[in-house]
Amino acid sequence: MIKEQQFRVTPQVAYNEQNIIEHVSREMGIDRRTVKHVRVLKKSIDARQRQIYVNLTLRIFINEMPTDEEYVKTEYPDVSDAPQVIVVGAGPCGLFAALRLIELGLKPVILERGKDVRERKKDLAMIKSQQSVDPESNYCFGEGGAGAYSDGKLYTRSKKRGNIEKILNVFCQFGASTSILSDAHPHIGTDKLPRVIENIRKQILASGGEVHFQTKMTELLIKDGEVKGVQWSMVNGQCSTFEGPVILATGHSARDVYRYLAKTDSHLIEAKGIAVGVRLEHPSALIDKIQYHSPAGRGKYLPAAEYSFVTQVDGRGVYSFCMCPGGFVIPAATGPEQIVVNGMSPSDRNGQWSNSGMVVEVRPEDIGEGQDALSMMRYQEELERMCWQQGNMKQTAPAQRMSDFVNGRLSYDLPRTSYAPGVISSPLHFWLPKPISKRLQEGFNAFGKQRHGFLTNEALMIGVETRTSAPVRITRDPETLCSIAVRGLYPAGEGAGYAGGIVSAAIDGERAADMVKEFLK
Ligand SMILES: Cc1cc2nc3c(=O)[nH]c(=O)nc-3n(C[C@H](O)[C@H](O)[C@H](O)COP(=O)(O)OP(=O)(O)OC[C@H]3O[C@@H](n4cnc5c(N)ncnc54)[C@H](O)[C@@H]3O)c2cc1C
Repeated sequence: MIKEQQFRVTPQVAYNEQNIIEHVSREMGIDRRTVKHVRVLKKSIDARQRQIYVNLTLRIFINEMPTDEEYVKTEYPDVSDAPQVIVVGAGPCGLFAALRLIELGLKPVILERGKDVRERKKDLAMIKSQQSVDPESNYCFGEGGAGAYSDGKLYTRSKKRGNIEKILNVFCQFGASTSILSDAHPHIGTDKLPRVIENIRKQILASGGEVHFQTKMTELLIKDGEVKGVQWSMVNGQCSTFEGPVILATGHSARDVYRYLAKTDSHLIEAKGIAVGVRLEHPSALIDKIQYHSPAGRGKYLPAAEYSFVTQVDGRGVYSFCMCPGGFVIPAATGPEQIVVNGMSPSDRNGQWSNSGMVVEVRPEDIGEGQDALSMMRYQEELERMCWQQGNMKQTAPAQRMSDFVNGRLSYDLPRTSYAPGVISSPLHFWLPKPISKRLQEGFNAFGKQRHGFLTNEALMIGVETRTSAPVRITRDPETLCSIAVRGLYPAGEGAGYAGGIVSAAIDGERAADMVKEFLK
């Protein structure tokens, strides 16, 4: 017999399968030995009260074992001889577009300017050891895109449940833990993501698709208003073309692509609002104490605590973004003379610090009159350069204690931090643009009132977080997803301005693949 039932249990009960089976059999009044297996279908932590509970929806196998897989498997046929579609970018959008193309019987040809996910790791290490950023291989560029060395959070504001489940199931098929199917806030972790990404690539190759690393799209081949393919080049000077319709999934940091599009046709892109601010890092033990309302913190059975804040200051949103419990602050620049910070966490989220972006919404009209499609991108660039100048003109980031920032004081010393290239004390309250610093100060005051202990000099602000989303939208038809300026071109994912995170980028990639299939019909 198989039964589905909800339980509200202590964190200790929810900690492992054995404890759950003990609890379930007791609650249901059945012999413990008859419960052969329990499958967690949904799991969420309720930390609103002092006593913390875990809500579980369970499938209980009584006197029988499960016969099915925990995830739904997708079949990928051989597409070696099928019509080819070019996918530019091997981030979540490009990879899921490629998988979907295979499902639909089309052959993906992926171009990725960066290296494969393992080689890329060496260039990330160089950022720490040499304080230099390879403009083609960094935290944003390379196989897996910006999502590879991240927290791998897989929740999204998208409401399309079916689409989200499909993406999560595909992640499981390629090696992610099936816990992502049940957790209210699923995440994979930066230590586990590379293997999943490699497995996706292996499938694409096994099905007859192509993956070309260190191969950068330099131009679209456009004839009579229709894209016929792309021109590409490699670092060794080799260049050539690929033919076919194009899914353009180049992410939010490919500024050369935006510049190229702006130059090619003014209708291809438009300016888009962004959010900018800092990474804020607290000791994770402090966040655990605050969020779990206990001086003992999270104890043995709870994960590192998360938080989420949002408020409005002078008509603009101020909010926490991409929280990484037990994670690291990382240098996410993609070129010289930039400092950009972001965050990532390992799967166990067991680090000493917890960080999040603390950002302020900026709209195109906020940065002055007479702007063009690239003005928000230039605003980002200016901030990143200013931040680099405030540091030591390397990857050492300017930083300030949180209460000092709110009170407009320079920090005389700084706490230890997870940011590996190092930090230098700097008056962020002074040099950040006033509309940003003032709103952040008020926002921090508001968050400090909501959670006692959150506004503290134990927390460190590290500048600057600018790449929260694309500063440009690549215009497309909302139904066909095709560029409104060029036929056969499918701008997709975060870089095109239609996604904000791993899952939404993947969903958008799948949709773009569906639309290319229609186009080819
Ligand atoms: C450090 C960090 C942590 C993050 N953590 C999370 C998280 O936990 N959860 C979450 O949901 N989101 C997270 N994000 C955001 C998430 O990674 C992005 O939303 C997502 O990766 C966007 O996917 P994408 O495929 O659209 O673009 P990207 O992932 O940016 O991929 C674009 C790819 O295109 C390639 N490319 C660019 N130009 C060219 C060209 N001319 N030719 C060939 N290739 C090119 C790039 O090298 C890159 O690999 C994080 C981002 C960062 C930087």
